[in-house]
Amino acid sequence: MIIVEIPRRARKCARDESPFHAGTPYFSRLIPLKEGRYEREDFCEACWKEESPSPGSISWKGEVPKKTAKDKREDKIEGWFELLEQLLESTEEQSQKQAYLLALFLKRKRALAERGMLEGNHLFEVIETEEAILVPKVKLTRDDLPLQELLAQKL
Ligand SMILES: [Zn+2]
Repeated sequence: MIIVEIPRRARKCARDESPFHAGTPYFSRLIPLKEGRYEREDFCEACWKEESPSPGSISWKGEVPKKTAKDKREDKIEGWFELLEQLLESTEEQSQKQAYLLALFLKRKRALAERGMLEGNHLFEVIETEEAILVPKVKLTRDDLPLQELLAQKL
């Protein structure tokens, strides 16, 4: 068996740099270089039609895999973590309250675990990476914006 090293598909089109979206076709071209190595170029459908054939290369049509329910869940959680980071950068009380609400929400989603109190902060651990996050202790009142509204506004 001969094994060749083929580079992975790029995330965007080699010609117009448009990103490849899940479920859409792409066209790949492999151009032989020296010593059994290959240069790979990936194109979107529109750009591929404008490409002229390159001698000695091979090409094929593929399809970007559709996102699974698990991928979608991970994308969503990533967005929530980004929001949490933004909120924690602020020293405003309102942001800290929202950060705490969001942390509790991520705990319910089993993306965070609460590990106790540390110097007046809630200590959370990111389940996947085991990173520690400190969320300031806050006093929530009836007037605080519900988390659902916050998420709807910011995401
Ligand atoms: Zn393109």
